[in-house]
Amino acid sequence: MSKRKLSRQQRWRIEKIQAERAARADKQAVRETESLEAGEYGPEVAGRVIAHFGRTLDIQSANATLHRCHVRANLDSLVTGDRVIWREAQDGSGVIVARDSRDNVLERPDPYHQLKPVAANIDQILIVFAVEPAPFANLIDRYLVAAEATGITPALVLNKIDLLPEDGGELGALLTHYERLGYAVVRATTQRDDGLDALHERLTDRTSVFVGQSGVGKSSLIDRLLPDEALRIGALSEDSRKGTHTTTTARLYALPGGGELIDSPGIREFGLVHLDEQQVAEGFIEFRDLLGHCRFRDCRHRNEPGCALIDAVERGSVSQQRFASYRRILESLTPR
Ligand code: GDP
Ligand code: ZN
Repeated sequence: MSKRKLSRQQRWRIEKIQAERAARADKQAVRETESLEAGEYGPEVAGRVIAHFGRTLDIQSANATLHRCHVRANLDSLVTGDRVIWREAQDGSGVIVARDSRDNVLERPDPYHQLKPVAANIDQILIVFAVEPAPFANLIDRYLVAAEATGITPALVLNKIDLLPEDGGELGALLTHYERLGYAVVRATTQRDDGLDALHERLTDRTSVFVGQSGVGKSSLIDRLLPDEALRIGALSEDSRKGTHTTTTARLYALPGGGELIDSPGIREFGLVHLDEQQVAEGFIEFRDLLGHCRFRDCRHRNEPGCALIDAVERGSVSQQRFASYRRILESLTPR
């Protein structure tokens, strides 16, 4: 609330502007209803949002053709990956009349720290890290916790395995631990022809997004996976460096070998969003069966007697390293 009181005249002017705006939206909705009823559009069919440009969107129809569409005035905001119902006009363009329910939605904070949806209906978040630059101590856990909070399955991609020492080094041991926790781990390199075989397999029949620290090779991987689209992606990231508004929009690509990729510079930088303590704890999948079994219902798993998590660490069923990582993430979130 503004401290300063609005004068009566100011208030009147604001109300007038709002009323005019509402009337305009109503009028547009009426016009749309009329033209929809007049049969200027074909029957309702299913489609998928593959790119988003403000009020217009590109829709892919069931037979894989692309259509530039606008959205009915009364429809919620749509994002790339949304399944929609739309009607085609004679000229091939169309109007989106409804949005299907979402399996999940990936959100990121806008400049005002409000979470905004950026893409929907994603099967997996591929967390990319590399032999070089090596991930700092709990980087992977931070990404996993953030991914788990979205409800989208994460998988780990270790890139640049061409730089890995023969015995697998420390990273090799680290990955074995994540595999034991139940995470899929894929090893990749853009430096060998067969370097992406395991990744191709992981991408088939699924809709994926890549996230990870800068320098780990996300652009290189995507260039190799989408050779024909490489130029366009390059252009996108160049624009985003200039801070162009439209480039934060995500785009859905069909992979030549099967599967889909949703990509935008904004998604690649996906970080730890504003999570609460409960979400952080639940982001450690091996804690889930233990949560709720502490002696105190409001246990914060610090040094309380009868803490199920601390007991599990002492028994060795939860690793010291993951528990330390959990504590470190909590500390980084607590505003002081
Ligand atoms: P991004 O910031 O995650 O998009 O990373 P880039 O794709 O820009 O890659 C960063 C650097 O790593 C570039 O110099 C790439 O050439 C290099 N790179 C990417 N993949 C590999 C790989 O598999 N092996 C090696 N040795 N270098 C790679
Ligand atoms: Zn506890």
